[in-house]
Amino acid sequence: MADDRAEVLVLGAGISGCALAFHLARRGVDPVVVYDPQTPAAGATGRAAGIVTEQLWDPWDVAVARESKEEYAHLADRYDRSAFAVNGFARWTKAREAVPVLEAAVERLRSWSVPVSVLDPPTLAEKVPWGRFDDVLGAIWSPDDAVVTASTMGDLYAERARELGVDFVLGTPASRFARLRRRLSPRPLRGGTRQLKRTPRAYLWAPLTGFGRSRIDFRKATSSGE
Ligand SMILES: Cc1cc2nc3c(=O)[nH]c(=O)nc-3n(C[C@H](O)[C@H](O)[C@H](O)COP(=O)(O)OP(=O)(O)OC[C@H]3O[C@@H](n4cnc5c(N)ncnc54)[C@H](O)[C@@H]3O)c2cc1C
Repeated sequence: MADDRAEVLVLGAGISGCALAFHLARRGVDPVVVYDPQTPAAGATGRAAGIVTEQLWDPWDVAVARESKEEYAHLADRYDRSAFAVNGFARWTKAREAVPVLEAAVERLRSWSVPVSVLDPPTLAEKVPWGRFDDVLGAIWSPDDAVVTASTMGDLYAERARELGVDFVLGTPASRFARLRRRLSPRPLRGGTRQLKRTPRAYLWAPLTGFGRSRIDFRKATSSGE
């Protein structure tokens, strides 16, 4: 029975939770359980505009955006081409004092190998034909940026994760899910510090998940085998 318990419990089945579960399973973590009291698109993932831009503020974020685009492109190519498009990303301003900020951004972004160029208003109007840019004083453009349907990407990660054995518990309040108690209980200690490091997290998260409200005592459930 102990082996039936979650090694990792992911709270939230938005794009982050689904992608995390997929990557953990891919790296051999098992079992992984994703729990969400609602549905995968209930949070921000179901509302996102889906812009994936490298016009960011530090090199780590740029690297994450770049890698994300690669992964999204790969997933979309394989499962749903409509969920990903490289259409470029423009930022512009009509505030004179913001123009040097944009120019500095170009310099900074180029130093991180982000392909970005300065646009004059007529060229910007060509890129974004439905816009009105006659009062624009500065604009920058990164042609490799993309847009995704975030909820579809979340679904694709979830599907891949399921294929790898990840279990999803969705749309059910924990208080009504008796078997969740067993599956979400951490494994019993086997004397290793690895276990000691991991198990408290489940307890720490418990009040946030509503498990606290349902008054489930995980430690008791674990030791008594309920
Ligand atoms: C209007 C809008 C536009 C956006 N546009 C962009 C954009 O263009 N580009 C971009 O990169 N980002 C954008 N974002 C941000 C992006 O949507 C979020 O960063 C991303 O979706 C976060 O994903 P997530 O999985 O972390 O969170 P969410 O999608 O919010 O998922 C969190 C999940 O956790 C669940 N949950 C809540 N409480 C608990 C609990 N106690 N236990 C277990 N589960 C719980 C919720 O039900 C939810 O399903 C936008 C956001 C909004 C709102």
